[in-house]
Amino acid sequence: MTIETARKTNVTAEWNPQKPRPNIDVDNVDFWDGLRREELLLWTCRTCGAAYWPKCYCIEHENEPFAANMSWEPSSGLGRIFAMNRHHTAFNPGFADEIPYTYALVELDEGPMISSTIVGDPPNDLLAVGLRVRVVYKHYPAEGFTLPHFEVIGE
Ligand SMILES: [Zn+2]
Repeated sequence: MTIETARKTNVTAEWNPQKPRPNIDVDNVDFWDGLRREELLLWTCRTCGAAYWPKCYCIEHENEPFAANMSWEPSSGLGRIFAMNRHHTAFNPGFADEIPYTYALVELDEGPMISSTIVGDPPNDLLAVGLRVRVVYKHYPAEGFTLPHFEVIGE
C-alpha cells in the first residue's frame, strides 16, 4: 500500500461523551498537537537518537535540567503487534457500539511501545501477534484532539 492509500483511512468523527477523554497537559500537548497534524511524535534524544514514549529521560545520558537534550520528533508510524486483547464486553458504556474490538500494544519500528485499538481489516479473529501495522488518525475536531489507531498492513 502507498501513503496515499493510508491517508484514506484517516477519518473525522464525533466524540461519544460517555468515553473518558485523553489527558492532555503541559507535558504532552506537543504530542497531541502532532496527532492533529497526522504526525505520531516520539520523545527523541538529540545526543544518541533513542526514541521514547511516553516522555522520559534518555537512559544513556545526563538529562539535567529535565530532558534538556530531548525533543518530539516524527516517527515512521510503523510497527508490529506485540500483544493484544480482544474486548467482547464494554467496561465503559461509551465503547458499547465498538465491541468486539482489539486493543493492542504496538512495538514501533523506532523502539517504543504504544497502545491503541486496531481498526480496519482483517477482522478481529484473524489478528495475530507480529502483524505489521501503521498508524491511522481519527480526528475529533469539535473536541480539539486526534487519536492514533493502527491498521494491519501485512505480516
Ligand atoms: Zn540519548
